[in-house]
Amino acid sequence: MRFDERKYKIQEEAKLLVPPPRGEPVTAIARVFAALADRRAACLAALPETPPVVELDFDPALFEEGAPLLSSFDPAFFREDFTAAAGCLFPGMAGLFPAVAGEISALADAISGNPAVADACLTALWAEDEEAQALWAHVCRLCGKTGDMAAVAAFAAGEAMKVCLTRMASLLDGQVQKESWFRGYCPICGSYPDAGCLLPKEPEQSEYLISKSGQLHLHCARCGHVWRHVRLKCPACETTDHEKFTSLTANDRDDERVYTCSECGIFFPCVDLTGGRQDIRLDTVALDLMHLEFVASERGFRPLVAQAWNTFA
Ligand SMILES: [Zn+2]
Ligand SMILES: [Zn+2]
Repeated sequence: MRFDERKYKIQEEAKLLVPPPRGEPVTAIARVFAALADRRAACLAALPETPPVVELDFDPALFEEGAPLLSSFDPAFFREDFTAAAGCLFPGMAGLFPAVAGEISALADAISGNPAVADACLTALWAEDEEAQALWAHVCRLCGKTGDMAAVAAFAAGEAMKVCLTRMASLLDGQVQKESWFRGYCPICGSYPDAGCLLPKEPEQSEYLISKSGQLHLHCARCGHVWRHVRLKCPACETTDHEKFTSLTANDRDDERVYTCSECGIFFPCVDLTGGRQDIRLDTVALDLMHLEFVASERGFRPLVAQAWNTFA
């Protein structure tokens, strides 16, 4: 089968699986999380004037080996920023998520009353998955709550951390050696992307990275940094087998797609901006494409980055 035919077939199958255009529940979820993104952006102004660091000791060799800029940075340095971000963000979050408002308020009170709680959150946020569960249980105990609150604490603290990292990303942007980073995770904070976008190619770039319909840029799920990536390579397992790493589109919208990888099982949404489309905000594009993500998860793929809405929705 020729490549074009195969692509057509995938599109046809995708159409069969896509539910009719975004239903009301999907739109409602997207609206709440878009409001949360707005609140995070508004809380940037609440951060202390002096950031935790303005310039990092940069080791080009480590960076080239794949160590993000913040990998050797002690999370405890974020204590003041994190405390301020939580203080600004949590009251609004409690309003947006009434079902868990009590837990969010308990965490807010604990963080403002005891610096050890902020430190415990920061340690848990930067821990590997296996350790993280026990660390969040510890945060709950510090709040005088049971472990049932762990998932809410992780979600709320993660949102506050995004505020801190977004400010850091804009300060550190100039230190990213763009020509030596073509990995699937963020060169600043190390997170995987929550979305990609295709941008018109720049003529002076090397042929290796260019494909006919634009260059892939990835948007970091935590700090919002945007970096270039090889278009035909899975950001997670790095397979370049186009039988395995492919995309789904639907409803005649070829500019909206979800990349899926059958080698490692991930998916992530992507929007094509090569046609000049400007109605897209990269920090909420994953919400705009949620209906396509449901198709990918129905097919057994898991999100490249677990978010509250693609995990619990
Ligand atoms: Zn990042
Ligand atoms: Zn993969």
